[in-house]
Amino acid sequence: MTHSALWPELHLQIHLLTFEIRATTRMVLPPFKGSALRGAWKGVLTRAYCPAPPEERAQPAHADTCPACYLTERENDAEARKPYALRPPLTRETDFPPGATLTWGMTLFGPAWLLLPYVLSAVKDMGEAHGLGRRLPPQRQRGRFTLQAVYAEHPFRSQHRELIYAHPQTLVFIPQNGAITSSDIANTAKKWLNALPSPATLRLHFHTPLRIVHEGKLMRTFAFVPFFQRLVERLFLLAQEFGDPSLEDARATLRAVMPATLPLAEQVRIVEDRTWWWDLKGYSSRLKRPQPLGGLMGEVLLEAPREIWGQLLEPLLWGQMIQVGKNVVKGQGWYELIPLTNGQK
Ligand SMILES: [Zn+2]
Repeated sequence: MTHSALWPELHLQIHLLTFEIRATTRMVLPPFKGSALRGAWKGVLTRAYCPAPPEERAQPAHADTCPACYLTERENDAEARKPYALRPPLTRETDFPPGATLTWGMTLFGPAWLLLPYVLSAVKDMGEAHGLGRRLPPQRQRGRFTLQAVYAEHPFRSQHRELIYAHPQTLVFIPQNGAITSSDIANTAKKWLNALPSPATLRLHFHTPLRIVHEGKLMRTFAFVPFFQRLVERLFLLAQEFGDPSLEDARATLRAVMPATLPLAEQVRIVEDRTWWWDLKGYSSRLKRPQPLGGLMGEVLLEAPREIWGQLLEPLLWGQMIQVGKNVVKGQGWYELIPLTNGQK
């Protein structure tokens, strides 16, 4: 058996993309750039590639045949999982003169990878024709940019990144590494476990605000169990929706797996909490009202016996890619997991 006996085998394939863009006019963006990027990208995609009138767009069957709506419109159904997550630029700078570069990324789940040409064209058009960020004088235009390069990332292979597109070529190269799969996750978990002492400390670093709702309440102080619970739920639901073959009945699988898992998660101890709350507000165009986006930033040090990590590591590794909590399409809940070797903090 290649994976922990606790977890079902998940046939989820993930592609991580990094975009490098260069401003061609001044660009003014908020400190947290996920909402602006997602809004602009989604707008371009729908306007350029969806031929349907709005009433037809709302039909559930429409997204099965329309690439733009497969990627974006399913968002109107709050229960529907989206086939992507966003990794916004991590800089909090807001003013970018012509020539400045920014890096951000997108994670595509399962079949969304087949829509790569649409994903990329929308980023290009966004930079060249529609713009990004605040409207600026004299023409009240949003910031323009060129898409300089696109990389496919594979954190679990020896060659971590491959160039798949470079401006001004028109060809996109298929990455040799292929997708991130469950065997990459299982192999990495095994490698980590062999190197970890017992007890072992893992550092969980939040790149973007983590917004977890647990039992109807917003989690303002980090607690491992609700974090882990939300993560596993999301992972199974994504495997049901985008896995090939799909995980049958994710909810039933969760009910079977969780009772054995939560007592293990309860043994994870927070040895240091270096988190802080980033109080962010955004605007939801779907709900037509301001939307709170605040969440936990910073990091926590987590300690548990090695055999406990052995049981919990796979979902935690997946989580680095799928992100967790609210608003992952706007870039929230992106974290990194780092094992600490002796003496490191
Ligand atoms: Zn459509």
